[in-house]
Amino acid sequence: MKIFVVNAGSSTLKYQVIDMSDESLVCKGICDRIGATDGSLGTITHKTPDGRIYENECEMPTHAEAFESVVYALTKSDAKVMDSFDEISAIGHRIVQGGSVFPESCILDDAAIDEVEKLGELAPLHNPAHVLAIRACLKTFGDKIPQVGVFDTAFHQTMPKRTYMYALPYKYYREYGVRKYGAHGTSHKYVSDRLAAMLGKDKKDMKIITCHLGSGCSISAIKDGVCFDTSMGFTPLDGFMMGTRTGTLDPSVLTYIAEKENLTPADINRICNKESGVLGISELTNDNRDLVNAAEEGNEQAALALEMQRYQIVKFIGSYVAAMNGVDAIVFTAGIGENNPQLRKDICKDLQFLGIEIDDEPNNKRGLEIRISTADSKVGVYVVPTNEELAIARETKEVISK
Ligand code: AMP
Repeated sequence: MKIFVVNAGSSTLKYQVIDMSDESLVCKGICDRIGATDGSLGTITHKTPDGRIYENECEMPTHAEAFESVVYALTKSDAKVMDSFDEISAIGHRIVQGGSVFPESCILDDAAIDEVEKLGELAPLHNPAHVLAIRACLKTFGDKIPQVGVFDTAFHQTMPKRTYMYALPYKYYREYGVRKYGAHGTSHKYVSDRLAAMLGKDKKDMKIITCHLGSGCSISAIKDGVCFDTSMGFTPLDGFMMGTRTGTLDPSVLTYIAEKENLTPADINRICNKESGVLGISELTNDNRDLVNAAEEGNEQAALALEMQRYQIVKFIGSYVAAMNGVDAIVFTAGIGENNPQLRKDICKDLQFLGIEIDDEPNNKRGLEIRISTADSKVGVYVVPTNEELAIARETKEVISK
């Protein structure tokens, strides 16, 4: 069984094909500049694990033309991987916002697509693009191939009400659904499942803190096998500082600077989502590697950005230890979490009160599912590389097998 995994943005379409017989990657690629308004062509870059590459530029006014390019790449190009798209058993879509409507993955029938579209109010940058891609799939492939929605928010739907409510007038929850939904759920679920499998334990018997540290960052507290709390909120802006996002801050800061600079809600959204975080503090870059290099060369703002981010991560982990009344395992994942051993070590140094000790030898290894704390460490600390596409493919397979 081959599953086609789609991660669609408004002008991009990332995809992977995964062979579920051995969960191997068949190919992956990206279409870019879909619907470009400056007259430029769309692009496709398609790669296979044996090193073949197909690149092309063509008209891509909508996601439908992008899918046609993908079908060509998959079935006819020099980097083809199958004779016909009929070999695909199902399409799994990553969907950022499932609200309270989608506590789990499901088949995207007409009613579900309408709901995903309605939830665009809560994720205006993402859900409308997902709907474009889902409808384009219907146009290109008809309804022969089932489409499944896998929601970033689903894993967090188990949070108790006291952890997901905001202390605003209740009517905003009742009338507009204003509450914490979280994000990166597919990754938090995947790495916590992998951890339990690695240890041969039942997730239900563990208290786990998963740290997804990438361009976007979030931390989840997992208790009794399900999500108990998570750092992202109503949108993926909440939590702690990220590449370009603020994380949590006193809301009066926003009304204050809005009045000072005559800013609109759209300006505030842009500043908080795209111009803040480590980029805003360093005035240099949102990239962790570049920041580390700049800090080593003496750039004080780069060093400050890194110190602030680390401090906020430690605070979140500490608060979740308190919230769960303990922790058995801490897991690091995603671009920074998987690749920055010094940061992992520094964070754990600040958590010494938990009896954590890091072992440098495994901590300096890359690309492995590995325990990085010593055998004596009171809390196990692990690196588990995330694989959201594989997680989506597994969910998709499960849904269509039901
Ligand atoms: P992601 O969003 O998961 O792709 O993560 C992107 C972040 O991971 C960026 O800030 C990168 O700088 C960071 N990253 C990727 N590779 C490395 C590396 N080798 N060392 C440190 N950070 C890295």
